[in-house]
Amino acid sequence: MKNRDIFVGGKWQQGRGQQMQSRFPGDNHVVATLNSASLEDVEDAVIAAEKAWRDPKWRHMSSHQRAAILLKVSTLIDEQREELVRLQTLDNGKPWAEARGLVMSAAATARYFAAVCEVSGGELPPRRQPDIMTLSTYQPLGVIAAITPWNSPIASDMQKIAPAIAAGNAVILKPAEATPLVSLKLAELFEQAGLPAGLLSVLPGKGSIIGDALVRHPLVRKISFTGGTNTGRQLAHIAADKLIGTSLELGGKSPTIVLDDADLDLAAHGVCYGIFSSMGQACIAGSRLFVARSVYQAFIEKLTKLTQGLIIGDPRQERVHIGPLISSAHRDSVIAYVSQAIAEGGKIRVGGKVPTDPALQSGHYFEPTIIEGLTNQAHVCQEEIFGPVLVVIPFDDETSLIHDANDSIYGLAAGIWTQDYTRAFKLADTLDVGTVWINTYKVFSISTPFGGFKDSGLGREKGLESLKAYMQQKSIFLALNPQPNRWCE
Ligand code: NAD
Repeated sequence: MKNRDIFVGGKWQQGRGQQMQSRFPGDNHVVATLNSASLEDVEDAVIAAEKAWRDPKWRHMSSHQRAAILLKVSTLIDEQREELVRLQTLDNGKPWAEARGLVMSAAATARYFAAVCEVSGGELPPRRQPDIMTLSTYQPLGVIAAITPWNSPIASDMQKIAPAIAAGNAVILKPAEATPLVSLKLAELFEQAGLPAGLLSVLPGKGSIIGDALVRHPLVRKISFTGGTNTGRQLAHIAADKLIGTSLELGGKSPTIVLDDADLDLAAHGVCYGIFSSMGQACIAGSRLFVARSVYQAFIEKLTKLTQGLIIGDPRQERVHIGPLISSAHRDSVIAYVSQAIAEGGKIRVGGKVPTDPALQSGHYFEPTIIEGLTNQAHVCQEEIFGPVLVVIPFDDETSLIHDANDSIYGLAAGIWTQDYTRAFKLADTLDVGTVWINTYKVFSISTPFGGFKDSGLGREKGLESLKAYMQQKSIFLALNPQPNRWCE
């Protein structure tokens, strides 16, 4: 694909910024070239967005009609599923089966917010005075800046665009540098579904230039961000200066816990999937594993066997579990973390190297890796690696387990394996994280809120209330029997 247009204020046009490329991480070939957005493109997109959301035709469009657009988008996604899967996998190397799951989830997200949009309304608070009625209504915020990372773009994009549009806003999406293609394709589908021009723009480009200009624009009224904690903190400062809201879905270092009464086969499958799916490039990757000492040996043997059986290869092949990492620079950072773990006393149980298969040499592959012999204080237990690296630590009692599991700046998710649900529930209650999975891991539901504690984020996406995160409340007082206002009587 040469010179892919970008989508600015309802128009497909060449970006006016620097040239950029999307490369397939599986063999590094160039999939598409395009010019990134420029600062002028940001300005044009924001001006068009401001005009479009204020247009009375959009402001007074019934929620039923807005829902119809989202429903149409979900149908188009279903119809063009394989093309979207292909673009997602070419952009970021995600194995085909996982990419398909994400595309299906994007269609489900559009359907869910169509339904929420149809049924959501304002409130009629109880009257405090017999002749005064009060109404509480919800209105859109205006222009929303949506900024997303490269690891699951179609899902992250839709989790922002669908509720923001359902709520009546305009959205300007800045996808990650590495993954512009699937986001541009989504814009095509929204256009085809009849979304009025200007309500969605997609501006590929560098975060520090295009993302920064976008969030600082005075007409942008909310920042909805998914990405790294440092970037999120920077954006929160900008939002504080502008007195606008943010929704921040950030990094993680999630603990998974195998108690002494767990079904060890079930747990081994869950732990293996929880860390190594998406090659560990997932915010919720279960990267710190705590195992009860009495079952440690039996469990680690099962987990080792499963991990050694994972198929590494071209992610476009259906049966591949482990594809490439996003870039060679990112693989270098994963390799550096593994070296640091060894320097701190870690022992490699599985993996730890670049695969030697000649067919994989032009991609950014790395073996799924299990490290033993460290404590939770090790750098690899405290910092997000965002790669296929699992550290396993035995524990002796639940007090030290809870202390170590919570001893992290992050608080995104946790997994617990046990056959005793009372014990699981009590443990879940003590963990400082936004999501706990019990006897499963990394399953999602669009109707269940998702977000982080501590440095893993601020606000929640998904669920009924997430529509309101893109709205502001307005109270209206209505005199039923108008009288002069009483004053000093
Ligand atoms: P990143 O923070 O480097 O980039 C994310 C997005 O922000 C990109 O589009 C980037 O261009 C943009 N950006 C970067 N600097 C910016 C700036 N100064 N101003 C405006 N925009 C800027 O993160 P990444 O490397 O793309 O993604 C990986 C991170 O995302 C990991 O930390 C991961 O845990 C996190 N993540 C979190 C969730 C979640 O739901 N909590 C989901 C997926 C990924």
